[in-house]
Amino acid sequence: MKTLTTFLACFLITAYAHGAPATPAPNPTPAATQAPLPDTPPTFNASRAMQYVKEIVAFGPRPIGSENHRKVENYILSHLKGDTVEQDNFEITASEGKFPVHNIIAKFPGGRDGIIVIASHYDTNWPLRNIKYVGANDGVSSSALLLEIANELRGTKREGYSVWLLWDDAEESMKLPWNDPESLYGVRHLAQKWQDDGTLKKVKAFLLEDMIGDANLNVDRDQQSTAWLEDLIYQAATRVGYQSHFFARAIYETDDHVPFLQRGVPAADLIDADYGYNNVFWHTTEDTVDKLSPKSLAIVGTVTLETVRLLDQK
Ligand SMILES: [Zn+2]
Repeated sequence: MKTLTTFLACFLITAYAHGAPATPAPNPTPAATQAPLPDTPPTFNASRAMQYVKEIVAFGPRPIGSENHRKVENYILSHLKGDTVEQDNFEITASEGKFPVHNIIAKFPGGRDGIIVIASHYDTNWPLRNIKYVGANDGVSSSALLLEIANELRGTKREGYSVWLLWDDAEESMKLPWNDPESLYGVRHLAQKWQDDGTLKKVKAFLLEDMIGDANLNVDRDQQSTAWLEDLIYQAATRVGYQSHFFARAIYETDDHVPFLQRGVPAADLIDADYGYNNVFWHTTEDTVDKLSPKSLAIVGTVTLETVRLLDQK
């Protein structure tokens, strides 16, 4: 991911000068057959998600094409046994050579026509391959979160939209600082593939999770994300009492949601791009499990599942 925080000041000044309020969310008109939302928050087993974090981190650095990367792929797949899984495998030619890229998609069918995608990248940065950089927050926290969401969805009969969980690959830039043409390989390939085969038209929302395990959790409001979907996430956070962890700061984020936004898919990036003072732990060997909290996984997991409920009602 690449953050532009300088955009914030410009945005606020512009919004103030023009007195432009945020675009209001359209009023949902639930179909007569839809049940009212339950009062109880969705369940999310944060201690199990945290265990997944520790197990993935234990594999070590996992740059694309590496043996550790293959082990993490197998780890994810081993937790999806019995689920409907699609693997999107291809090869890229980057300035550093040719690399395999492997997206993993687990599909949980629903009764309503349409798909909600929840995504996380699972690779670590190729340029950081020779240091002990494990990306506990950047890549692992969100990948573990998705594994636990799979547990929550598995075996339940969904009345709402189908939910597809996407562990996407090669998000990280092949060069540092960030390089647009040599990053987001997995999602760029998948967005194009889904556009070509007609899947993209069915995607009602793309929810991206990135760096959501920080014990000091402050999920930013990404100005590039779809405004009504950000509003819905805040509504979900408020419903489950976690709104104080959301959207105190506005940023402009280039991340895995961008190729979908560019194709007209409503998309939102749930990201806390301030990891340690002034983001000091990001992309360093300090991105380790001790900086994370199962409570943060619980907050984001619960808010994500509540957002899915709200989307189902829309
Ligand atoms: Zn990163």
